[in-house]
Amino acid sequence: MRPTTAADPLEPRRPSARTALVLALRGRCPHCGQGRLRRSWFSTEPRCARCGLRFDRSREEEHEYWLGAFTLNFIVTEVVFAIALLTALLVTWPTPPWTLLLVGGGVLMIATPIVFYPYARALWLAIDLIFRPPQPEDFDC
Ligand SMILES: [Zn+2]
Repeated sequence: MRPTTAADPLEPRRPSARTALVLALRGRCPHCGQGRLRRSWFSTEPRCARCGLRFDRSREEEHEYWLGAFTLNFIVTEVVFAIALLTALLVTWPTPPWTLLLVGGGVLMIATPIVFYPYARALWLAIDLIFRPPQPEDFDC
C-alpha cells in the first residue's frame, strides 16, 4: 500500500460507510478523517485543509447541494417530534397536558433543526461520498 500524501488526494484509503458517517458526526472530513468540517455552527469550511476535498460537491449553486442536508434535518426534526409526542402521550394518558404538549412541541420543532443543523450537513456530505465517491474535480481549486 502506498503512503498517503497531500499530492494524491484520491488515494487515501476510502473509509467504510460507517467510518465516514462517524467522522462526519465528529466534525471531520469524511474522506480523510483529518480536516475540520465546520467553520462555525452554521457554516462549513469550503474544503478540507488536509486532503483538499471541496465540501460543496455540486457544480450548481451551493444551496442546491445542501438541499439534501435540509431534507435530512427536516426528517430528523419530524421523527424527534413524533417520538417525543408519542412518549408524552403514553406517559400521561388518559389526561395529557395539552397546553404543555403544544408549547413543548413548538419549542422542540424550533430547537431540533438548529441543534441538528451542522450534523445534517456533515451526514449529507458523508452519505454523498458513500454513494458518489470523490472524483478528481472534487479537489479542483
Ligand atoms: Zn479531507
